[in-house]
Order: sequence, then C-alpha cells, then structure tokens
Amino acid sequence: MPIALPSGDLRVRFAGESLPAEVIHSLTERGIHFTLDADQRHDHGRDWWPLTIGWAAHGEVPALPGVVVQPVTTEEVAAVLRIANEHRVPVTPQGGRSGVVGGAIPATGGIALDLTKMNSIVTIDEESMTVTVESGCFGPDLENYLQERGLTVGHFPQSFDLATVGGWLACRGAGQLSNRYGKIEDIVRGLTVVLADGTIVTTGNRGPRAAVGPDLTQVFVGSEGTLGIITSATLTLRRHADYREIAAYSFASVHDGLEACRRIIQRDARPAVLRLYDVPESQRNFHLDRCALVVLDEGEVEYVATTMKIVSEECVGAQREDDSVVHHWLEHRNNVSALTPLWSRDIVVDTIEIAGPWSTLMPIYEAVTAAILAVPSSVTATMHQSHAYQDGACLYFTFAGRPESDLEGYYRSVWDAASAAVLEHGGALSHHHGVGRNRARFVPDALGSGFDVLARIKDSLDPHHILNPGVLGLGGVAW
Ligand SMILES: Cc1cc2nc3c(=O)[nH]c(=O)nc-3n(C[C@H](O)[C@H](O)[C@H](O)COP(=O)(O)OP(=O)(O)OC[C@H]3O[C@@H](n4cnc5c(N)ncnc54)[C@H](O)[C@@H]3O)c2cc1C
Repeated sequence: MPIALPSGDLRVRFAGESLPAEVIHSLTERGIHFTLDADQRHDHGRDWWPLTIGWAAHGEVPALPGVVVQPVTTEEVAAVLRIANEHRVPVTPQGGRSGVVGGAIPATGGIALDLTKMNSIVTIDEESMTVTVESGCFGPDLENYLQERGLTVGHFPQSFDLATVGGWLACRGAGQLSNRYGKIEDIVRGLTVVLADGTIVTTGNRGPRAAVGPDLTQVFVGSEGTLGIITSATLTLRRHADYREIAAYSFASVHDGLEACRRIIQRDARPAVLRLYDVPESQRNFHLDRCALVVLDEGEVEYVATTMKIVSEECVGAQREDDSVVHHWLEHRNNVSALTPLWSRDIVVDTIEIAGPWSTLMPIYEAVTAAILAVPSSVTATMHQSHAYQDGACLYFTFAGRPESDLEGYYRSVWDAASAAVLEHGGALSHHHGVGRNRARFVPDALGSGFDVLARIKDSLDPHHILNPGVLGLGGVAW
C-alpha cells in the first residue's frame, strides 16, 4: 500500500451501508474465509488513487468495508455473490489495489472481495503457448514461473510488483514493453467470470480467433469489476528474449519526436520501448534540455537489428544520445516512491494517461498542458509518449499544484479541465489506468450514446447493481 496508515482513530470519507448479520452467518456456514478485523478493513478501504494517498497522510481512509472476504475457488466467489445478491450488498473486487483511479475502493461499504488468495497457475500449454492463471496472481509470481521455462507473457506495467492478473484485465492495462507484446486485451484468450447472481461463465479459450458472435471476453476486459468477477484467464505466451538492443536520441521539439515515432511505427517496426519525453520530463529524468527518446527492442537478433535500423533511419535528424539514458530509464522505471512524500506535504500530484490519433496528438498535448496550467495553483504539467500504434499513441501527463486550501477542489478542477481538453480534441479518456471513481463523471460524454448500451448491459448482468456501484459511472454515485 502507498502509505502506512497512522495509528489511532481514522476518519472514513465515504459512509457505507451497514452489513446485514445474515451475510456473516451465510459466509460462516459455507466455510468461506473472511475477516472483520478493523485494521484489515481500513486497509481494504483504499487503493493507490493519489487523491486518497493525501487523505491517508492526514488520517483519513476513503471507505470501510463491512467485511473482507478471501475466497480460494471460483465456486466460493460464486457463493459470495449469491449471498450478496440475495441481501443486496455491494461487492468490490480487489486485486493488488494498485489502481490509481479509485476502482478498488469499497465506497458503498459491503464486501471487499480480496482475490489475492486465488493465485495458482492452472495449466500451461507450451505447444500452443498459452497459460491459464487465477486472477489473484501477482506479476512476479507468474513471470518467475514462466521464465524458468523460457517463456513470458510480456506484460510489465510499472506496477508489476503491486498488481494482479485480474487487475490488469479489469483495467485494460498496458505493460512497458507493450509495443512488442501488446496490451492485456491483445494478450488474453479467454476468461472465467462470475456474474452478480453467482453464475459461472467461461469465454473464449477455443483457439486464437473466433467468429461466433461478439467477443464476450472483451465485454469483461475493462469492465473494472462492474459486470463480473474474473477468477481466471488464459493468456498468450512468447519466448523469453535473451537478446536486446538499446538506443537513445533527442529532438528539438515534441512535434519532431512524435513525428519520428509515427514514422517508425508506420514502417511496421515495433521496438518494445519507444518513449518520447517533453523537455521538462527530459530534464527531470535525464538532465537533457531536449526531448529524449528511449528505444529498446528484444527478441530474435535479425528482427531486433532490422527494427533498430528503421529507428536510426527515422531519427536521422535527431541527436544521438549516450546509452546511459536508457540504462537510467531501466534502473528507475519501477520506482513508485515519488507520490507519497509529495502528498504528505500537501503538494497535489497525479498522472493522466490518454490516447489519441497521430493527427491530433500535438493539439491534444498543447491543449491538455495549457488546460492544466490554467487552473490556479498549478505548478507544472509535463508529458511523455509511452505506447505507440499504427494510428496513434498514448500521452502520459504528470501535473502538480500547490493550492493553499481545498486540495480536493483543485484536484477535481485539473481533472475536469484536462479531460474536457482530451475529449474536445477527439482523444480517449484513458489508455490503461481505466476510469474507476475518479473519471466516472466523464464517461457519458466519452462514450456518447454508447454509454446507454453499457448501462443496459450493466442492468442486464447486475440488475441490483451490487458490483462495484459507481465505478465506470455505472450503478451508483462514484465520488
Ligand atoms: C506506481 C504505479 C504504476 C502503475 N503503472 C501502470 C502501468 O505501467 N500500466 C498499467 O496498466 N497500470 C499501471 N498502474 C495502475 C494499476 O497498477 C493497474 O491498473 C493494475 O492493472 C491494477 O491491478 P490490481 O491487481 O492492483 O487491481 P486493483 O487496483 O485491485 O483493482 C483495479 C480495478 O479492477 C477491479 N478488479 C480487480 N481484480 C478484479 C477481478 N479479478 N475481477 C473483476 N474486477 C477486478 C477492481 O474492482 C478495480 O475496479 C500503476 C499503478 C501504480 C500505483
């Protein structure tokens, strides 16, 4: 968790509903493990949403679930949901609680469903190169198992140590090498999901592609615990690469750097890492006064060599930088310690990752940074491009501000301004962190009439709105 909770009395921000005694009775009767311990409930009342890291620093937890339930099988998850559905008790699925948008916060109380005890590797098919794994498995446990066999899923988010397979899928996450290995929605081949009424559903898992109606796996990927609980997933595998090449360049402007990235990707080169930093981020990370480009590729020697040749051809107008830039990035890329000390000093800081087409990325970059800086008390708004595709890329903004009072009001205003700028310029609200509670208020605008379709799916699969009410803007108040 991001910050140790202070000892003594903690205030709870969101008043949850009280838990009917029958729920505890039914859980006990079925032998499902749960705890009513106050410390555990406080801890399971929060995730890594930066706003709430600030609250925790001041002795406040976002929520207090009535009970923390720790199932060990899909059948137990189904039993928990049947009980919750019968008593109309909200259920918040939780993996590593590393989500940064408040999706794992049980704001309405009820059951915090901790899935981390479901962490086994179920099967591996080394011929077809797939692995089936329970959703509560953390990244290192999965990768250690696979890499001993010379294999990898290739999904390495910055939160690799903190997040679970279920959380990756529920949020449509992206690893740092996703240009080569894909986002999690590209990697998944099938799911086991438990619906709100306890029905167990399996999707996909019948080979690489199907034309048997819409892809039901993708209905649940990105549903952030609002449509069902993912209990296991089948993921594709790659050979673990033992050959890598790296390179660093710098550009005079973000525009020139983005253009080079676009040309590289549109020549079908897929360097695993192709990250472009604006000048403030280049100064902060690499002590460079130009826009740094970090490039890394891995895999078969010939493919890597061809990729790096294309990169160097498209960076012909750029300055070649020392490889130490890439080494520095590799060494510090999973350092997650920066946020807490800042929030503890009442400096508001957060990140906003979005996606957009190449044709509007520059306008989005300019509009979002201008919108953030126009909010009184903003100190900085910076950006790097972190994941690139044939038709566009992810821009990852970092903002900080020092409001004299009303930190939450400032925080809300920045998100309002930045999200409006993204939508106005045709971008997607989020590339990989998801919506959670923080972005829920923007979803109707982001999806247009599609939001009604999503709401109808929700009503059909979870008519009593017990699953993560409020998250994704569905089934309750978000924040
Ligand atoms: C420092 C830091 C760096 C990060 N870097 C990245 C990054 O590089 N890439 C990236 O994609 N994300 C990143 N994140 C965000 C976060 O780690 C991801 O969203 C991650 O996938 C969440 O996984 P989790 O297991 O912690 O899920 P949680 O935080 O526990 O849950 C996230 C959401 O998924 C739901 N959920 C969890 N498990 C299930 C399940 N089994 N079934 C149904 N719903 C479920 C929850 O209800 C919640 O809505 C970062 C976070 C931090 C703190």
